[in-house]
Amino acid sequence: MGGGLKPARGFSPAAALLLLATVAASAQSLPYQRPVDEAPQEKSIGGGYKTPAVQKPLPRSSWLQILDVAVLAAAMGISSWLVLKRRSRKSLAALAIGSLAYFGFYREGCICPIGSIQNVAVALTDPHYSIPMVVTATFFLPLVMAVFVGRAFCGGVCALGAIQELVLVKPLQVPRRLDRALGLLKYVYLGLALFFALKPAVARDFLICRFDPFVDFFRRTGPPHMLLLGSAFLLAGMFIGRPYCRYLCPYGGLLAWCTRLARRGVTITPDKELDCGLCTDACPYGAIEKMRAVRRNCLYCARCYAACPRDGDLAHAKAQLVNLS
Ligand code: SF4
Ligand code: SF4
Repeated sequence: MGGGLKPARGFSPAAALLLLATVAASAQSLPYQRPVDEAPQEKSIGGGYKTPAVQKPLPRSSWLQILDVAVLAAAMGISSWLVLKRRSRKSLAALAIGSLAYFGFYREGCICPIGSIQNVAVALTDPHYSIPMVVTATFFLPLVMAVFVGRAFCGGVCALGAIQELVLVKPLQVPRRLDRALGLLKYVYLGLALFFALKPAVARDFLICRFDPFVDFFRRTGPPHMLLLGSAFLLAGMFIGRPYCRYLCPYGGLLAWCTRLARRGVTITPDKELDCGLCTDACPYGAIEKMRAVRRNCLYCARCYAACPRDGDLAHAKAQLVNLS
C-alpha cells in the first residue's frame, strides 16, 4: 500500500517550473543589440557623408530656459537703470562682463535674440514649424525694452556687443558718410537672412547663425574659417567701435527701428551742458550729432557720461574726494 503521493495526472508543478525556467533562460540568452550598432554609419551610407558634430549647446530643461529669460529681463532692467539713472560707465562695464560670461561663455551664445529673427519669421509663415515660448520671449523682450528706453540690450546684456565693447582700445572715428553707408548693410543682411530662412524646409538656411562671427569663441569650437572671421572682427574692433553691431547685426536694425518710439534714452548732461564736445569725441559709435545722442544709433555704452567733466565718473570721484577732505 505505499502512503506516498501519487503524481498528478497531466501538467505537474515541477514541469511548469521547468518550462518557465527554460523560457526565462532562453530569454536571457537572446542576443541584445544596441540600436546604435544598427544605425547607418558614415561608411555604410557612403557618398562622403559625415556624421554631424554633437549639438552645442546641449538641450536644457524647461525651467532652466525660463530662468535664462528671467536673467535676460533682469539684466536689461539693470542695464537701463545703470545708464539712465546711475549714469555709470564703470558699473555698466561690469554688467557687460557678467553678461559675456553668462550668455556668451556659459550659455554658449544661446539664448540669442539675433538668431531668433529667423525662427520667429519661419514660425509666422510656416504652419508646420513651431517655436518654444522662450524663443518668442527672447526675441520680443529687447525690442519691447527698446520701444520704452532705447537699446538697453546692446549696452550691457548682448554677449556679441560685450565682446566687441571690451576689445575696443583705440577708437577711430569713421567718417560720417561712410558710417551711414556701411550702416545700411545690416538691412541688406536682414533681407538676405529672411530670404533664406523663408525658403521651403528642404532648402532653408539660417544665415545669421551660420555666420555668427563670435559664437565659435563662446563654444570653444568651430570651423577654422569662422574662427578667422571672428578674429578679424575682434582685430578691427580694437580700432573701429563694434563693427558687427554697427554695420551687420540685423537685430540691431530692428532695435534701431523700435527706438523711434522711445520716450527715454541717453541724454548728454541734460542740465549741466558745457557744449565742450568731449562727449562727441568720446562716442566711438558716431551716435552723437549736434551734441545730442541719436537714439537709433546709441549703443548705450555710457562712454559719453564718463567723459563729461561735469557729470561723469571722474566728476563724481572728484566730488567724493572734496566731500572727504
Ligand atoms: S547691435 Fe546686435 S550684436 Fe550689437 S549689441 Fe545690439 S543686438 Fe548685440
Ligand atoms: S551716445 Fe555714444 S557714447 Fe553715449 S551712450 Fe550712446 S553710444 Fe555710448
